[in-house]
Amino acid sequence: RGSPDSREGRSPSIDSPADNINTYRVHVCGEEGVGKTSLVNQFLSSDQINVFEGSPGEEEQTVSVLLDGQESCLCFIDEPSSIQGRGQPTAHAYILMYNVADRTTFENIIDTLYELKQADETRDRAIILVGNKTDLVRSRMVEFDEGTSIAASYDCKFIETSAAMSQNVDELLVGTLKQIRLKEQQGPQ
Ligand code: GDP
Repeated sequence: RGSPDSREGRSPSIDSPADNINTYRVHVCGEEGVGKTSLVNQFLSSDQINVFEGSPGEEEQTVSVLLDGQESCLCFIDEPSSIQGRGQPTAHAYILMYNVADRTTFENIIDTLYELKQADETRDRAIILVGNKTDLVRSRMVEFDEGTSIAASYDCKFIETSAAMSQNVDELLVGTLKQIRLKEQQGPQ
């Protein structure tokens, strides 16, 4: 990352995004406590990245990601419960998060996924289902296969993470941008 050999990852720090860089808004949804804040903080924590913080009080933060030689900014908007921001034309992606150690959060995020589909929000936007807290091995209540199966039935991406252990966090960041670009290339369906 940051080296001439690295083809993707977060790029070195600068002060502000250039005008020609696309900025995408990513809504991070999920029940309180699933790890939304921790995840976004992990996205922002490396000293190797561009971080463009919002105004004080704004629940949004922006990082710059270099992927396939092209830089883009991802702006994360914390949605405390479900999908308050739905229908906003500026939402390019949804990260839908649950806690693998709490089945209720899984069931609730499936409801959110269903609502998004009903609202026709899933077709043109990147949707990533995220099972967080995989480090809580002993108290796991939702199996990997259950997440995979729900994601398959809604035609969205799925990944498990541990925001606490920084596991799969970079993969999620890059995967989100990949999905956004894919949807953009496909155009309105
Ligand atoms: P939010 O309400 O969804 O923003 O959740 P937070 O990011 O505030 O996290 C809620 C609690 O879960 C905090 O105590 C975090 O430290 C903890 N937490 C977040 N991610 C993980 C994780 O991957 N593993 C574990 N064990 N704890 C986590």
